[in-house]
Amino acid sequence: MKVQRAYRTELDPTNVQSRAFRRHAGCARFAYNWGLQRKEETWWMNQLPVPRIPTPTAIDLHREVNARKKRDLGWMYESSKCAPQEALRDLDRAYRNFFQGRARYPKFHSRHSGRDSFRLTGAVRVEDGHVTLPRLGRVQLKERGYLPEGAHIHSVTVSERTGRWFVSIGVEEELPIRIRPPGEPVGVDLGIHALATVSDGTVLQNPSALMARQRKLQHIQREVSRKKKGSNNREKAKRRLSRCHAKVADLRRDALHKATTMLARTKPVVVVEELRPANLLRNHSLARALSDASFGEFVRQLEYKCEWYGSRLVKADPFFPSTKRCSGCGNVKAEMPLSERVYRCAVCGLEMDRDLNAARNLARVAASSAETENACGEMASSVRKDLAPPPGIRNPASSALVANV
Ligand SMILES: [Zn+2]
Repeated sequence: MKVQRAYRTELDPTNVQSRAFRRHAGCARFAYNWGLQRKEETWWMNQLPVPRIPTPTAIDLHREVNARKKRDLGWMYESSKCAPQEALRDLDRAYRNFFQGRARYPKFHSRHSGRDSFRLTGAVRVEDGHVTLPRLGRVQLKERGYLPEGAHIHSVTVSERTGRWFVSIGVEEELPIRIRPPGEPVGVDLGIHALATVSDGTVLQNPSALMARQRKLQHIQREVSRKKKGSNNREKAKRRLSRCHAKVADLRRDALHKATTMLARTKPVVVVEELRPANLLRNHSLARALSDASFGEFVRQLEYKCEWYGSRLVKADPFFPSTKRCSGCGNVKAEMPLSERVYRCAVCGLEMDRDLNAARNLARVAASSAETENACGEMASSVRKDLAPPPGIRNPASSALVANV
């Protein structure tokens, strides 16, 4: 099976190179914002009772940029033409995603977001400790041996996060034939205290580095709110906060990757709750907010990894009462406040860790979803159309192969 895999790693640019990165990112941001403005102008014009004009596409806009380069955008010649071109393509995609209901309306990119990026197309080479980028030349990598050498690479994204530069490359890789791992289906409950609880009793702990950072994050957040608005000290604390946020996100993603790889490799069927709709998330606490943020990432990783390793992902309805139901007798409680760490059943007397109880309930969902799977144990994409999934079960999306590892 051929899959598209993305690799992302930190760059170690010279000062000249990071200035060039910034210039490229500036071109990309300018093109994106200008294109967005042009599209919006067209929309407003079309509200008038005059003949409609078509919304300019990435190709139209790039042609306009090229014409303007000769007049007032001469500074763009210093950077690769790919940067604005790819930014305009991203804009088209953002519009498409919005109109097809997959994303919010695109926003203008801010210079101060600390999250600049640009994409280049052309020959990219990875050699021992270096990556050679079109127009930018050889850039040192912080970590050697991670990016696949000798792979055929056609496009590369360079992005900044709080002052550090990263490169992300997409590579087509051949994966060995998948064999479904033997064993019992498992349910996984993503928690606040532990990273995840598996129905077989395994508890995947959050790494201690992450826990320490999270405490620090809370501390800095309090500091920011204590500083006077508009003061230099507040700005400084804000920068510290965003650096800490980035670090926490990195550590979390890393921990999630370890967990999802283990699950997809060793379990035949993995059941998770489907992500709750955004309007139902209420983040009263920071820990809760972080765990909600990583939930989507957890499911996203499981989606493609289960396909890579031949496991099956089942998503239970977000309203399935996994925490309120007793995994022993099936009785459903009316209330199960977050503070109650142990599930106590009044009917059968079961006492069990709340997360383990939820995970066991999720594991049960696998059994009721088994009939939607076809006899060969093929992927969910080939599920028979005439067998509608039972209530409470949704078939996992099977086309998500793009990974951000
Ligand atoms: Zn019970």
